[in-house]
Amino acid sequence: MTRAQQAPTTNVMPPTLTEPAPSPNGAELHALDERPNRLRPLAGKPPGTLVVHEIYRSIQGESTFAGLPCVFVRLTACNLRCGYCDTPHAFTQGKTLGLDDVVARALEHGDDLVEITGGEPLLQPEVFPLMTRLADAGRTVLLETSGAVDITPVDPRVRVILDLKTPGSGEVDANYWPNLERLKPTDEVKFVLCDRADFDWAADQIRTHRLTDRCPVLLSAAFGQVSPTELATWVLESRLPVRLQVQLHKILWDPAARGV
Ligand code: SF4
Repeated sequence: MTRAQQAPTTNVMPPTLTEPAPSPNGAELHALDERPNRLRPLAGKPPGTLVVHEIYRSIQGESTFAGLPCVFVRLTACNLRCGYCDTPHAFTQGKTLGLDDVVARALEHGDDLVEITGGEPLLQPEVFPLMTRLADAGRTVLLETSGAVDITPVDPRVRVILDLKTPGSGEVDANYWPNLERLKPTDEVKFVLCDRADFDWAADQIRTHRLTDRCPVLLSAAFGQVSPTELATWVLESRLPVRLQVQLHKILWDPAARGV
């Protein structure tokens, strides 16, 4: 998932890795059975709890909400391994917290905007009541999720940012394509592009699935692999009504910084 911006992080500690992976229940996972070890950080997690990597306040770095103050709730574990992933520390590190505690910690910062991210946040069933409770509290809730998990159970008030995986990510086969039919006008689709072939692939998906008719579509250059200037040229040439986004956090702070 995306990283966002500098602020104190909390609750980082190694998880217990001794029990079999739990069922993610609630969320239908695609291409996950062959990757059970990636769920081991969630093993033994009691019902009603979440394994949380960090909760912090910062500036939203991506999406149509870029630039706004935002509270980030980053959950532990991911079933994918994208080649450009900038949050591998969230694969395994986290602390188990009760749902009430996570809600309170997210709300205590006071910001209207809250993003649930990871890792892959939909791997933990308690994320669904977490998002509902934050929306009930009047927050604008963003969910940053890969395209690999069924978004059907997500509260309709939540704005889903669906990160469709390109061939260059190494995880294109994990995309759960029925998610595209479940997008709302308030959702967003994001492509992180590793090269020109990824751009052409994304353009095909945008046209084939009429994605820009469904919701905003964001194109982002994989850091260090495609220059934003090059991507801008491709966007203009394509005449697609998409939004080029830069990773604001990597401009504001050290690109290698964690917890941002
Ligand atoms: S979906 Fe990919 S980029 Fe996001 S946390 Fe998982 S491995 Fe990293």
